[in-house]
Amino acid sequence: MEELPERVIGAVTVLFGARGGKYPHGNSLLVRGAEETLVIDPSLGLLPRRDRLPPVDHVLNSHCHEDHVAGNHLFPAAAWHLHEADLPGIRSLDGMMAIYGYPGPILDAFRRIVVEQFHYVARPDAQGFADGAVFELGGGVRVRVLHAPGHTRGHCFFWIEPDDVLYLADVDLSSFGPYYGDAWSDLEDFERTLAGLRGLQPRHWATFHHVGVLSDPGELRARLDRFAGKIAEREARLLAFLREGPHDLAAIARHRFVYRPEDDVPWAEPVERRSMEQHVARLVAAGRVCEVEPGRYRAG
Ligand SMILES: [Zn+2]
Repeated sequence: MEELPERVIGAVTVLFGARGGKYPHGNSLLVRGAEETLVIDPSLGLLPRRDRLPPVDHVLNSHCHEDHVAGNHLFPAAAWHLHEADLPGIRSLDGMMAIYGYPGPILDAFRRIVVEQFHYVARPDAQGFADGAVFELGGGVRVRVLHAPGHTRGHCFFWIEPDDVLYLADVDLSSFGPYYGDAWSDLEDFERTLAGLRGLQPRHWATFHHVGVLSDPGELRARLDRFAGKIAEREARLLAFLREGPHDLAAIARHRFVYRPEDDVPWAEPVERRSMEQHVARLVAAGRVCEVEPGRYRAG
């Protein structure tokens, strides 16, 4: 079995996932105070560690996506907490499916994947938290909630004191760029979240995928610029495509602006459509794209 790495930063232990935390894997955080212990975003990487994990009082999920709740079931005796906006997703599988909002056949297939590959377990008594909530773990160790919506409605950062670790969850600074392709995603909320992140100055940043832990502000800025820049890049490519137009959303989704044409992703069509309809809507509102006939768009 692959030995998965860990990194200790004071009260925080980063439990790195397999394959560098590349989806479907991810990095989880264990936070130990004098009185209580909590785990943030239990990933698939916690399953092979299950016999070595300490008792956990609370499970915090940054948002309700399959890869972030894949290890929740390892902690049936702990209280589970999510932002109140994403709470329906952990309370029932139907609630979870509404977050994605994919069309019928894709959703049915995905429903099975969420249960069989991500070990989804509904938890009707999961508790909601709001922006600014604080989990006091004893001995000066606390976890503060920062609502950071866009990826999902309830997506949150967690700021862990006193070690000054800011956990960014799926603002993952990856080369893929921001993901806002679900029914419950919102491009402009995501942009506000990214702008707000620039004003935060922790000692360490931790992400769920890929990057893991960053401690150099210059590197953080460079990665954040590149990550945020993917939004403008997709929009510029869309404008170029619509200059050759007119095109409807089906053609836009087929052309692919989020995934690469060679990416074999069963849910690519609805994700492309949901992502790019938000770009189209704001370009229309700004007068940069015209709806030349119902559902067909051209850039001037
Ligand atoms: Zn996610």
